[in-house]
Amino acid sequence: MIYTDTRDSSVKADFRTAVMSGMNPATGGLYIPVSFPKLDSSLIHKNPEPSFREIAFNMAKPYAEGEIPDDDLMEIIQDAYPFTPKVVPVDSISYVLELFHGPTCAFKDFGARFMARVMSYFNKSENGTLHILVATSGDTGSAVGSAFHNVPGLDVTILYPEGKISKIQEKQLSTFTGNVRALKVKGTFDDCQKLVKTAFTDAELRKEFRLSSANSINISRLLPQSFYYMYSALAVRNRAPLDSKLENPAIIVTVPSGNFGNLTSGLIAREMGAPIEGFVAATNSNNTIPDWIATGDYNARPSVETYANAMDVGAPSNYERIKAMYTLEQVRSLFASYWLDNEGIKKAITDCNSKNGYVIDPHGAIAWKAWDDIRSGALAALANGTKNDYKKPGLTPNLPAWADKVISKNAVGILLETAHPAKFGSTVYDAIGREPPVPESLQKVMSLPDMAIPMENDYAQFKEWLKANLAK
Ligand SMILES: *Cc1c(COP(=O)(O)O)cnc(C)c1O
Repeated sequence: MIYTDTRDSSVKADFRTAVMSGMNPATGGLYIPVSFPKLDSSLIHKNPEPSFREIAFNMAKPYAEGEIPDDDLMEIIQDAYPFTPKVVPVDSISYVLELFHGPTCAFKDFGARFMARVMSYFNKSENGTLHILVATSGDTGSAVGSAFHNVPGLDVTILYPEGKISKIQEKQLSTFTGNVRALKVKGTFDDCQKLVKTAFTDAELRKEFRLSSANSINISRLLPQSFYYMYSALAVRNRAPLDSKLENPAIIVTVPSGNFGNLTSGLIAREMGAPIEGFVAATNSNNTIPDWIATGDYNARPSVETYANAMDVGAPSNYERIKAMYTLEQVRSLFASYWLDNEGIKKAITDCNSKNGYVIDPHGAIAWKAWDDIRSGALAALANGTKNDYKKPGLTPNLPAWADKVISKNAVGILLETAHPAKFGSTVYDAIGREPPVPESLQKVMSLPDMAIPMENDYAQFKEWLKANLAK
C-alpha cells in the first residue's frame, strides 16, 4: 500500500515509514492510505460471520502488502488479539459493542497492541532499542504501556500529570516493570506533552537514542480499529432478522468521540465494505465537531473537563484526516452529531440502567443517549422542521442521508462502549447508586506496588534522567 499525506498529496510513503515516523515531519501532515480496498465479498456475505481474527487479518492485509508476509501478519494478529469485541443486545434494535475486554479495559487496546507488534516487526531490521516517549492524560498511557510491555527491542517511558488522573488510571500506568516505566510529572498534561515534544526536537538526544512516539495519529493505531466495526456490523446484520425481523436493516453506529480516531476508523471500515448506513458522532461539551457540522465553520478551542474525560479534546487531530477524505456535504450525509453536558451524561447513565438494565460508562452513555433520542423521534422532529439549537445539548440540526431509514423504523443501532464502567466508578456510583464490579485485570493492578518515578516539570532534569537511565 502507498500512503500519502493529508497536507501534500504528492507525498508517497510505504507502510514502514508511515508507522515508524507517525506523522510526516516535513509537512506536519498525517499519513493516509491512497485507497481503502474492499474486503472480499465472500467474507462480507458469510453467515455466520467470520471470526474477529479472520476479519482482522483480511482487513490488515492490503495495508501491509509487500512489507509484512502473510504468516508474520497472522502471527501479529493472533498475538495482538487474545480477546475479542463483544456484541451485546440491550433491546430488539440496539446493540452495545463492548470494546473493553482487552488488558486495560478500554478500546485503545485494539489500536495500541497492533501498533506495538508492527513497530517491533519493523524494528527487527534496525540496530538497537527504539524508545517510545508518550505523554498521557489517562487511557492512552496504560494501553500503550501494556501493549509494548515485554515486546523485544522496544522501550517505553510514559509521562503523566501527578494527581490529575483517576486512582485506577494511575495504578494502571505506574505498576509496570522491565521495559515500561512511568514518570509522574509535577505539572499538567500539557507540560508532559511539552517535555516529550522538546525531547523529540533535541538533536543531542536524538543522536544518542532512537526516539519515536505512540501517538493516536499513527496510522497503525487507526487501521486496526476498523476491524471491530466490520465484525460487529456483520454480526448485527446476521442476527437482526431474528431479533427484530428486520432483513438487511440500516445499521447506524454511534461513536463516543474525542480525537475522532475511532470515528475515522469507522469511516474506513465503511469504505472497505462494512454494511454500515451511517454514523452518529457523540461528544461531551467539547463539541468542536458538532459545531462544525451545524455551522460549516471549524473552530478548535481549549478543552474543558467533563465526566467523559477521555473525550476532553477541543482540537481533534483526526479532523484533518476526515477533511482529506470527504467534503463537508459528504460528512453531513454520513454522520449526524450529538452532544451532552455533564448533567446530561450522568442522567444518561441513570436512564440507560433503568431502561435497559445495562451499566454503561460515561463515554458510552453519550452514545446510548444519542441513539435513544434519535430512534424516539429527534430525527423525525428535525425532518418536520423543529430545529434544536446547536448551542444546546442534543442532536445537531442536520439531517443525514439515512434519516428516513430511522424514521421508517428500518434501522438498528450499534453503540460503542469504549471503556469498562469500573474505570469511572465514582461517576457511575453517583448516577445509579452502586459501583460496577471491578474486572479481574483491574483488581490485579490495584494490588501491585507503585513504581512511578517523580519528575519536576523541568526539561533539563528530564533530559538528564533519560541520558542516565535509557538503554542505548
Ligand atoms: C480515547 C477514548 C475515547 C475517544 O476516542 P477518539 O478516537 O479520541 O475519538 C472515547 N472513550 C474512551 C474511553 C477513550 O479512552
